[in-house]
Amino acid sequence: MIRENILRIREQIVSACSKINRDPAEITIVAVTKNRSPAQIKEAIGAGIYDIGENRVQEAAVKFKDLQPAISDSQLRWHMVGHLQTNKVKETVKMFVCIQSVDSLRLAEEINKQAAKMGKVQNIMLEVKTSPEATKFGLKPQEVLATTQGLTRFKNLKILGLMTIAPWFDDAEQARPYFRQLRQLRDEINSSSAIGYRMADLSMGMTDDFTVAIEEGSTMVRLGRAIFED
Ligand SMILES: *Cc1c(COP(=O)(O)O)cnc(C)c1O
Repeated sequence: MIRENILRIREQIVSACSKINRDPAEITIVAVTKNRSPAQIKEAIGAGIYDIGENRVQEAAVKFKDLQPAISDSQLRWHMVGHLQTNKVKETVKMFVCIQSVDSLRLAEEINKQAAKMGKVQNIMLEVKTSPEATKFGLKPQEVLATTQGLTRFKNLKILGLMTIAPWFDDAEQARPYFRQLRQLRDEINSSSAIGYRMADLSMGMTDDFTVAIEEGSTMVRLGRAIFED
């Protein structure tokens, strides 16, 4: 079932891309694996998914131990997508290729500190609260530019882009303005040259709305149910 789901998702990505002339290769599927078993995750990996999203570092650590021996280290890329507390940062920096849920300068500072200790440049994304209802966490859109500028002093961080969770609607089309807003924010930051390099990524789109997110420029779709459920 997981393999079939992933095949279907890939087809949906191709057809969303063809509507707006994008190359499907620009879009990374991040399998969000909270509450899924290592066996389920292995099945997804077997179907070609190498980007794994986790919400909690403890849960990720258990799976990491289980999965890493089976799969070569360099192949799996772990993304932190859940709210992160500063006391969990050290462990997170050790394990995750990207921390997508950075929502404060204080958290960024701690990530930078731990990354510096490990001699690592940590990829991060800024989580933006494009809707007050959808999530408790994230920067307000009007705070993002200044926060991005504030991050430039942290030499062990690389900002890949922005992440958001759109509110849920019966009709995914209604999520479109939230995705568009995130894209516009990214473009604004890039044209302000606030950080001296271009942030390319937009992590947006989940099971119920990822095709709309792709039409609005998503480069990473975070999928749970679409991959693991009927
Ligand atoms: C659970 C989760 C997802 C995946 O949600 P689905 O609707 O199951 O695709 C994506 N992003 C975050 C941050 C999540 O917590």
